[in-house]
Amino acid sequence: MVKINANFSKLNAALKQVGAELNFRYHFVNNKSKIASTRKKFKTDGTLDTIENLQIDFFAGLTFYQNNFVAIYFKNLDQNDEIIFHFSNCSQFIDHLNNYESSATLILPESEKLDIKKKSENNNFIPCRLCLKKTNWNNFVKAADWSRRIIIDQFNVLEFHKQMFSIERELFSDFTTSQFLKTLPNDFPRILEAAKSNKKWTCQKCKINVSGMKQLYHAILIDDTIKRYSPNDFIGVCTGCLKVQYHDMYITSEELDFINKFKPKK
Ligand SMILES: [Zn+2]
Ligand SMILES: [Zn+2]
Repeated sequence: MVKINANFSKLNAALKQVGAELNFRYHFVNNKSKIASTRKKFKTDGTLDTIENLQIDFFAGLTFYQNNFVAIYFKNLDQNDEIIFHFSNCSQFIDHLNNYESSATLILPESEKLDIKKKSENNNFIPCRLCLKKTNWNNFVKAADWSRRIIIDQFNVLEFHKQMFSIERELFSDFTTSQFLKTLPNDFPRILEAAKSNKKWTCQKCKINVSGMKQLYHAILIDDTIKRYSPNDFIGVCTGCLKVQYHDMYITSEELDFINKFKPKK
């Protein structure tokens, strides 16, 4: 209890600095426990073996389990020691889900199994080519893009997740709805990343650059009734600024620390 109280006073102090009101505590606890209850089901290696009636949602081209972005593989289906994981509703994934649901395994993106930077016995996990195609992750218009972005042969799902995390955060903070996310095209991950990259991961409101903690960046459609997705159709803001206006926005104390440290002083 002492630890929790200490965290809350730290959080309150931080939020005072960003100018938020202090009536969010209740929601903060709720949101956090909602996330924790799903995450608790996963084993320590970050996987969750099949559960009955697996319910996978497809939002903005990505695969979600109870509002958490997950990658999925099927046990004993792949050849040559390679384990192909899916993160999108590609045709092969849909086919496997229909025919081999009992061997489906969910993986959290922060799992070491998926981290290609970690030279471990698990580096035989490779992303599905169809999923990369579906989310337009292998289509680059300008050569200059290559130097700054994740490229197909270095696809790292954790890095990808950090870039896409705003979708998940907005979803479990009830800032957006699953119904709306379902209307977005399958290549929305690339659209979103292109918009964020165009704005250089810098909040248009407080000017913080969150390149060092990309999960703090949101690109919000200015008019979500128009099906147009050029970078100018988005406004780029940090989670801190969103929380000032929308108190239910989920944020961790580590993230608040980052904002307080790097937010430009007026
Ligand atoms: Zn796939
Ligand atoms: Zn900001």
